Amino acid sequence: MSEEELSCSFCGRAKPQTDLLIAGLDAHICDRCIAQAHGIVEEESSESTAENSSFELKPPKEIKAFLDQFVIGQTDAKKVLSVAVYNHYKRILNPQIDEEIEIQKSNLLLVGQTGTGKTLLAQTIAKMLQLPLAIVDATILTEAGYVGEDVESILTRLLQAADYDVENAQKGIVFIDEIDKIARKSDNPSITRDVSGEGVQQALLKLLEGTVVNVPPKGGRKHPDQKFIEVDTSNILFIAGGAFDGIEREINKRLNLQAIGYKMAKTTEEIDKDNLLQYINPKDVKSFGLIPEIIGRLPVLTYMHPLDRETLRSILTDPKNALTKQYIKLFELDGIKLEFTNGALDFIVDKALEYNLGARGLRSLCEAILNQAMFEMPGGEETALKVTKIYAENQLKKVNTSKLKAVS
Ligand code: ADP
Repeated sequence: MSEEELSCSFCGRAKPQTDLLIAGLDAHICDRCIAQAHGIVEEESSESTAENSSFELKPPKEIKAFLDQFVIGQTDAKKVLSVAVYNHYKRILNPQIDEEIEIQKSNLLLVGQTGTGKTLLAQTIAKMLQLPLAIVDATILTEAGYVGEDVESILTRLLQAADYDVENAQKGIVFIDEIDKIARKSDNPSITRDVSGEGVQQALLKLLEGTVVNVPPKGGRKHPDQKFIEVDTSNILFIAGGAFDGIEREINKRLNLQAIGYKMAKTTEEIDKDNLLQYINPKDVKSFGLIPEIIGRLPVLTYMHPLDRETLRSILTDPKNALTKQYIKLFELDGIKLEFTNGALDFIVDKALEYNLGARGLRSLCEAILNQAMFEMPGGEETALKVTKIYAENQLKKVNTSKLKAVS
């Protein structure tokens, strides 16, 4: 057979129509078929790794140690969360240990001021377990049929986070922020339709306890023709968070009542009035306006400490991806050695407290202090910048402090 007569055994193209024709024992393959076959192999192998990628579940102590790398303080919340996450995924990994005893979900409720690390905890857990995470704000949710988003949209986001891998989404984590904002507005819900309050709580119930929901994929690249995707929420871990402003009053009231009922002097003595949140229990959340069914489906309740000076200072420098470490890296990429003196760090914390910006404000403060240098220094002669208290003070004077925001 002449060279010209040779052809690809797969697509039949004659040699002159190919760029390359490789000979095997009894067959030939052209460059195009090689490329196509390579694509198929890649796709298959990535699918099989996705199928096999069951996560490794670490014991609660290791989960907490991982959280410690990213979240400062909040020891109680971290312990409670580590145990809840461990139990939740243990339950998924061992679906039928005992048919008699069904282990229930460990959905959580985190109560604490904004900016104390609730979202960060959820993000860090998702990062550790390499599971998809959807963060939603309860305030955008409304009852089906009203303006706003239906609760099902939560699952659309989770699907998006899982890149439409339904299996993975069904093991994922949903963080519902500002759950306190959908508290029942009045004790008598029949007076006006409570579109964004109790109705939404009712709609959330099913999702929290586990049900199969038809989810509109919305913008799903992979399913342009599919109207709905079925998502089973039984194994999704829901973490709800909220500031529950004023709940301390409820806690105080309950504690005082208890104190009157029992041995008054001793009980009141033991109460740490500065941090009443640590005594929170489901009754207080109910008094605040969450319906008992919702509370029942968020069985693990814990609280976040307000951030004090020491914690803020530590947030600046200690987490694995601490703000100062990020700026040092950014400058290093331009060949500049950035340093912060202790005085400068204390100054940044003082300002965050003074302007009541919390942890989120640390970033905008750093940005304001370093902006000038980040503009001037790249491409220049200087190779080092030492940020002292005086330097920070001077830079901050140049910006309109009312513009400093609590950004996350
Ligand atoms: P919340 O959800 O409670 O409103 P976030 O988790 O969004 O608060 O916190 C906002 C930002 O503040 C985080 O991205 C993080 O940079 C910082 N932060 C807050 N609390 C902590 C903490 N305990 N440890 C480390 N960083 C924190």
